[in-house]
Amino acid sequence: MAGDEGVIAVPTRFLRNWVATHYSDRLLTLWRSENAAVRRISFVVAPAGARQPPAQKDRDDSASPTVTVPIAEPDAAAVVAEQSTPEIIDDKGQISGPLDPRLTFANFVVGKPNELAHAAAYRVAEACAAPNQLVPFNPLFLYGGVGLGKTHLMHAIAWHVRKAAPKRKVIYMSAEKFMYQFVRAIRFKSQIDFKEQFRSVDLLMIDDVQFIGGKDSTQEEFFHTFNALVDQNRQIVISADKSPSDLEGLEERMRSRLGWGLVADIHPTTYELRLSILEAKADRMGLRLPQKIMEFLAHKITSNVRELEGALNRLGAHAQLVRRDLTLDNAQELLRDLLRANERRVTIDEIQRRVAEHFNIKLLEMTSSRRARVVARPRQVAMYLAKQLTQRSLPEIGRKFGGRDHTTVMHGVRKIEELMLSDRALAEDVDVLQRMLGN
Ligand code: ADP
Ligand code: MG
Repeated sequence: MAGDEGVIAVPTRFLRNWVATHYSDRLLTLWRSENAAVRRISFVVAPAGARQPPAQKDRDDSASPTVTVPIAEPDAAAVVAEQSTPEIIDDKGQISGPLDPRLTFANFVVGKPNELAHAAAYRVAEACAAPNQLVPFNPLFLYGGVGLGKTHLMHAIAWHVRKAAPKRKVIYMSAEKFMYQFVRAIRFKSQIDFKEQFRSVDLLMIDDVQFIGGKDSTQEEFFHTFNALVDQNRQIVISADKSPSDLEGLEERMRSRLGWGLVADIHPTTYELRLSILEAKADRMGLRLPQKIMEFLAHKITSNVRELEGALNRLGAHAQLVRRDLTLDNAQELLRDLLRANERRVTIDEIQRRVAEHFNIKLLEMTSSRRARVVARPRQVAMYLAKQLTQRSLPEIGRKFGGRDHTTVMHGVRKIEELMLSDRALAEDVDVLQRMLGN
């Protein structure tokens, strides 16, 4: 403890963020029940085996070197149980993370933006279920923005294999969970079991690997597991919100290996796809909505499929409660918050992505420190657009551009304003981008 602050050491940066977001309230409550003087807690990163943090001095049970996640579990019995072997594959030797029964291939609506990803996922599922397991491409790397169906496709693969070839060992797991399990294995010195569990698998799917970014032992472990599985000709499927070359905090060799197989991009939805998805979902819900309302939703809710579903669910609930036909006005009223959120939807991430694409530079240059004009100018354009199109403050924008100072952002914004007056080509670039991003 330091003053009224409880300090908790965790072994990685990732865990610090994760524990801080998920467990800080619970930890504070627990700590306060032991010592009422604690008013706040903070987290420090101290690699396992490193010097003990100052927090240890005042702790009465200074037997354990660093406080790691399991402490956050309020139930002591659960912690003891977990100490034996981190269980990943269930008792039938089957699946790992929970699978959502709705996320099947049958329920996945295929359209232009996702047809490649869907075809690749289906191919992998079939090949994996074949009697002499085939590996069409390794790994299959699915990437795309939030809510566009990456997790859906992975669950669909798992269901398909589970049904067609129940003997196959399939692990589906979020990268977060993978890291958690790994750190726990280190903590309880069961790395060997951990490795064994992964290496005996036929199909390994890790969702949202952008969370593995950062120089961690987890990345190292993931890399070894990955190589071992590829060497044994086992299938791996990975998802992320960016392509391998744009993932941040990833070692170069990891990045290149991730790109070895098939990299399939899920593009943002089109109007047609949104309408088909709405029709399919409404159908399954037994909900009949006027065509006008369906079209309205497909036009207005453009961010991702999850929000589209949210809108439909809300209208469905309303229709059940109030047995009256929905009008467009009703729908608009019921969905006001969703509609508004979709209006000013554009994020700095998206601006950076579009601008990088437009100027044909790597997305990483948006946050890099390179000052060559070929990258500095597009970066300034992105800053300018972030200022114009989002509600973010200059310091917030600076942070998104590799932790730059707000004065740097201000300088960038002014520079572009100035250049637009004299440089026709640049003014056009900015105009095109603004239109593309601004809806
Ligand atoms: P991601 O993992 O890419 O963030 P999800 O797979 O979780 O996105 O998808 C979000 C929601 O949208 C899920 O409920 C999923 O079933 C649905 N969804 C996404 N794409 C489709 C699609 N093409 N057809 C049907 N449902 C979809
Ligand atoms: Mg997902």
